[in-house]
Amino acid sequence: MFEKYDLHTHSTASDGTLSPAELIQRAAEAGITVVALTDHDTTLGLAAAAEAAREWGVRLIPGVEVSVTWQSRVIHIVGLGIAPDNMELNQGLESLREFRHWRAEEIGRRLGKSGIAGAYEGARKFSRGHLIGRAHFARFLVDQGYAPDFRKVFKQYLVRGKPGYVPGQWASLENAVAWIRAAGGQAVIAHPARYPLTRTRLRRLMTEFMDAGGEGIEVVSGCHSRDDVFKIAAHTRDFGLLASTGSDYHGPEQPWTSLGRLPTLPQGVKPIWQDWTPVRSTT
Ligand code: AMP
Ligand code: MN
Ligand code: MN
Ligand code: MN
Repeated sequence: MFEKYDLHTHSTASDGTLSPAELIQRAAEAGITVVALTDHDTTLGLAAAAEAAREWGVRLIPGVEVSVTWQSRVIHIVGLGIAPDNMELNQGLESLREFRHWRAEEIGRRLGKSGIAGAYEGARKFSRGHLIGRAHFARFLVDQGYAPDFRKVFKQYLVRGKPGYVPGQWASLENAVAWIRAAGGQAVIAHPARYPLTRTRLRRLMTEFMDAGGEGIEVVSGCHSRDDVFKIAAHTRDFGLLASTGSDYHGPEQPWTSLGRLPTLPQGVKPIWQDWTPVRSTT
């Protein structure tokens, strides 16, 4: 059977705007047959997603996107095929959420000092009681008219050097990969072309990632240009990594990424799903 994969998506469990069930419905309607829900630092959306996946007849790959600090930069590592209730993984993610919670309050305090009142409460409202990310601050700031759109608001308020940026320490690369592996998953470097890394640094990251037990890398990503895809594919072949493909969809409000409209993987890379057991309906 011809499968259509999207192995990187977000729901309201982190900073997406669709509930896990709505996300699965959209994926099914977009013709995706295998979808991974990969919320930031949490597995809490996976149970609802699994239920919806059964209903809509799509295969759910339980996933997560772990925030990592590597050489003073934030890198994201996706875990695919994880056991959602694995203790080692969840304890690790819990420590990241604890940092996130403090960071959210600190972002609120810093924005407060620069004259923006009520940002923490506002962001919390947008997060609907789930984990708070910078995207929730972004929605609050746009809603209050501090910036015209989502991209500009990041640039003006939420990136390094701006009033709402809080540096901090996420997981180490080794720990992120270890947690994912402990939960029986495959670790994948998310959107590699998006990091401000030189070619040498990127290859250093790939080396350390593989030494830690990482297996895959996103060759196709919603935020990769065609040029990025070919560049990353070349590194992927050199290193013998497995190639993944994911939109990094966050909801219909962000039209620059969409579900089910990804290019196919270039020739000569090995898809990460190559050795996955085919699951067929038994009835
Ligand atoms: P956080 O993990 O809370 O620091 O937030 C990271 C998330 O913010 C990413 O997963 C994106 O959803 C979003 N994000 C980060 N930078 C930008 C940007 N420049 N424009 C739009 N969204 C961004
Ligand atoms: Mn996000
Ligand atoms: Mn990411
Ligand atoms: Mn993501």
